Amino acid sequence: MDKKLYITTAIPYVNSTPHIGNAMDYLLADIWARYQQQQGYEVRFQAGADEHGNKIAAKAAENGLSPQEYTDQQVVGFRKLIEAVGAGVTDFVRTTDPRHVAAVQYIWKKLQPYIYKGSYEGWYCVGCEAFYTDKEVQENAGVCPDHQKPFERVKEENYYLKTSAFTDKIRDAIESGEMTIVPDNRRTEFLELIKDGLQDVSISRPRRSLSWGVPVPDDPDQVIYVWIDALANYITVLGYPDIDGWQLYWPADVQVVGKDIVRFHAGYWPAMLLGLGLKLPKKLLVHGHVMVGGAKMSKSVGNVVDPLEVIDNYGVDAFRYYFSRHVPTLDDGDFTWERFEMTYNNELGNDLGNLMQRVAAMIVKYQAGVIGQSEQAEHDMSLYHDAMDNFEFNKAMDEVWSMVRSLNQYIDNVKPWQIAKGLGSDPEAEPHLSDVLAHCAGALLQIGDLLVPFMPHTAASIHAMFEDGVVHPPAGMMYPKIYQHTADPRNASNQ
Ligand SMILES: [Zn+2]
Repeated sequence: MDKKLYITTAIPYVNSTPHIGNAMDYLLADIWARYQQQQGYEVRFQAGADEHGNKIAAKAAENGLSPQEYTDQQVVGFRKLIEAVGAGVTDFVRTTDPRHVAAVQYIWKKLQPYIYKGSYEGWYCVGCEAFYTDKEVQENAGVCPDHQKPFERVKEENYYLKTSAFTDKIRDAIESGEMTIVPDNRRTEFLELIKDGLQDVSISRPRRSLSWGVPVPDDPDQVIYVWIDALANYITVLGYPDIDGWQLYWPADVQVVGKDIVRFHAGYWPAMLLGLGLKLPKKLLVHGHVMVGGAKMSKSVGNVVDPLEVIDNYGVDAFRYYFSRHVPTLDDGDFTWERFEMTYNNELGNDLGNLMQRVAAMIVKYQAGVIGQSEQAEHDMSLYHDAMDNFEFNKAMDEVWSMVRSLNQYIDNVKPWQIAKGLGSDPEAEPHLSDVLAHCAGALLQIGDLLVPFMPHTAASIHAMFEDGVVHPPAGMMYPKIYQHTADPRNASNQ
């Protein structure tokens, strides 16, 4: 049994509530995982939580909790989102897990040949926990736009990882296809970014400026900064270094990341892996951002779309449908409640839901529910599979929908109810009708197969309705019409 695959998602920082970007990570990884499972692969699917750092410590203090108590609370929301999205995560890691902490310290020691101590002076924002360049500070008149606080001049001793030493190897890996960045424009962007080489990255902070984190081994004054701690999760969750079996899953087949964190995953992370003597991930799948009516989601604007609100009101498959088909896998996408409702009513309700019910009703009415044999050929699915292999899930769904629409058209053209009028008088009518309806049921089962990665509940309903030669009509309407949000005042600003 050599068919083991591994897919990862970026671990969110748990100081805020889960958002649509997290949901996209889980959804895309889950679609891929289900598709591979359908092909007979065993898939390990990681998710997790990034739980160290000053912002966590500050939020915890605000709430009168210890940082650990605070993250224990916060992580619940992310687990809930994973479940709501229907993501079949097999491994969940928290960076505060004692086993992860011990593995990070092991990694630190193992990277010693590439770690040196240096001093750094620069402009720092405590809120961002990040240094800024002179240019950035000037552009913002000395005040962090996110926190409305003046940048501070800070000088500190840090440990650095010699990322620069790995530039050539990383570039070669990307150019040779050993580590692919999908889509191609992200790959080009990253190669451009490192054309003058990667800069060494600061990987620790003095304890006085970072209180909540993994201690640097053998240096009580220093704490490991986010990069090594967070990025290491992709291997520690598998059991690296001390629980056997991780070797079966590393290198990862796919690492799903948002477009804003490509440089860490294509630069720092491969440098760490090379320093550890490990292989690089095979693919970075970079997805875009979801906008609302063409605008960036922002709390201050008040246009944030809560993935749980979509799922709770319309069901998980409707959520998965919209965000896999109407948000391009490899680019930015857009959401409005109005557009969501329109696609729900037209595409799920009319195109698919009615089709299922129509076919089931005719087989019940004309053939007492018994599905005959069809002579007609199956649809060619190579475009669908090509799209899946190229991580263009939206195009794969377009293929499925073109099958749904042609089947609707076929029924409108063939008019089984007309053929049925000949039953009893025309001896051709019965075999003809049986062939037509069997073809419809067969095509729906094929559509059901193609929907398994995307809409598992709908796929299961289709199979339950048509699979054993007898129709089992559904108890209720599939995708009943909805009207709630068209009148929602939140839509007014989006139109
Ligand atoms: Zn800031």
